[in-house]
Amino acid sequence: MSDTSFLDWPFLEARHRDLAKRLDAWCQRELPRDHSDVDATCTALVRDLGRAGFLEGTAGDAIDVRSLCLIRETLARHDGLADFAFAMQGLGTGAISLFGTDEQKQWLERTRRGEALSAFALSEPRSGSDVAQLDTVAERHGDDYRLNGEKTWISNGGIADLYTVFARTGEGPGAKGLSCFLVPADTPGLEIRERLETISPHPLARLGFDDMRLPANAMIGQPGQGFRIAMSVLDVFRSTVGAAALGFARRALDESLDRARKRELFGASLADLQLVQGHLAEMALDVDAAALLVYRAAWTKDMGAERVTREAAMAKLYATDRAQDVIDKAVQLHGGDGVRKGHIVESLYREIRALRIYEGASDVQKIVIARSCLAT
Ligand SMILES: Cc1cc2nc3c(=O)[nH]c(=O)nc-3n(C[C@H](O)[C@H](O)[C@H](O)COP(=O)(O)OP(=O)(O)OC[C@H]3O[C@@H](n4cnc5c(N)ncnc54)[C@H](O)[C@@H]3O)c2cc1C
Repeated sequence: MSDTSFLDWPFLEARHRDLAKRLDAWCQRELPRDHSDVDATCTALVRDLGRAGFLEGTAGDAIDVRSLCLIRETLARHDGLADFAFAMQGLGTGAISLFGTDEQKQWLERTRRGEALSAFALSEPRSGSDVAQLDTVAERHGDDYRLNGEKTWISNGGIADLYTVFARTGEGPGAKGLSCFLVPADTPGLEIRERLETISPHPLARLGFDDMRLPANAMIGQPGQGFRIAMSVLDVFRSTVGAAALGFARRALDESLDRARKRELFGASLADLQLVQGHLAEMALDVDAAALLVYRAAWTKDMGAERVTREAAMAKLYATDRAQDVIDKAVQLHGGDGVRKGHIVESLYREIRALRIYEGASDVQKIVIARSCLAT
C-alpha cells in the first residue's frame, strides 16, 4: 500500500483527496493493461478514462494543475501507458485551451470525453531542445496557409485525431517568427512517415507535411505567437511530468519495501540489513522531496501565478532525476528479478528514462532555473 500522507499536505484540498481515492479504486480494477499493441491500448485507455470522467480536467478554461499531477502520479504508479494516454490529452490540446477560439474549443468536448486523441507537434529532426530554430514553414496563400516540413518524436503520432503543430510564419527572426495551428489528422498532405520504437513502447511517429493546406482560421492565437504558446503550454504541463516520475518512484519504493520485508538472506530479512535500510531511507526522502516540489509548482499555478517557469523546472528536474535513482536502487534490491523482463521494476527502469529528455531535457531545466535565479 502506497504512502498517502502527502494527500493531507496544505497544497491539496478535500476534492483532491476524493479524486485520488476514486482514481486509485478505478486503477485497481482497470490496470495494468496489456502493452503488446500500444496503439490499441492507448486508444482504449483514452476512451475508458474519458467514460469514467477522468479526462474532464485535461482541457478547458480552468485547468487545475494539482488534479492533473495527482492523476498522473496515480496512473504512473499503476501503469506507465495509462499515464501517457492521459497526459497527451492535455498536452495535445493545451494550446487550444489557453489560446483557442470558441470554434477551435469545440474539439475539447471530444477530447475530454475520450472520443478524440490529441498530439503536440513541436520537435523536429534539427530542433529538439533548440525549438526556436524549427524549419517547418507555413506560407500564406490568400485565405490559406501551406505547410511544408517534418516533425519527429510526436507522441500519439499515427493514432491522434488532431495535432497542434508549430511552424515558421516569419513575422520575425527565430522564436519571434513561429505560429501554432490546429491540424485534424485527416488533413490532406499530413503523412505519418515513420513509426518510432523506444525502450519503453509508446505510440510515437515522425510526421511530414507536404504542401498541407490549412484555412487561416486553423491558426491558434495570433501570427508570431507560436513560441509563447508552446512555452505557456509547457509551463502548465511540465510539473505534471514530475508528477509522473513521482508515481514511478513511489511504485519502486513500494515494491522495494515489500521485497525487503519478504526476502530472507543470511538468516534474517533483507529489511534487517542496515545498508538496505540506508537505501530505503534515501528512496523515501527522494520521493517526499520530489512530491513537495511537484505540488508546490502545481499549487503556485493554481493560485493564479501567470508563469511558474522556475517552479515547474525545479519540479521536473528533481522529480525525474531522483526517480531514476530511486528506480535504480529498486532494481538493485530486487537482485536478478530486478532485470527480469516483465518484472515491474524492470519496466519502471525503462519507463523513467525518457522523462529526463522530453519537455525540456534535465540540462535545459538547469539553465532555466539558473537564469531565473540570476534575474532576481
Ligand atoms: C518518448 C519521447 C516522447 C516525446 N514526445 C514529444 C511530443 O509529443 N511532441 C514533441 O514535440 N516532442 C516530443 N519529444 C521530443 C523531445 O521533446 C526532444 O527529444 C527533446 O526536446 C530533446 O531534443 P532532441 O532529441 O533533439 O535532443 P537535442 O536537442 O539534440 O539534445 C540532446 C542533449 O543535449 C543536451 N542539451 C541540449 N540543450 C542543452 C543546453 N542548452 N545546455 C546543455 N545541454 C544541452 C541535453 O542533455 C539533451 O538531452 C519526445 C521525445 C521522447 C524521447
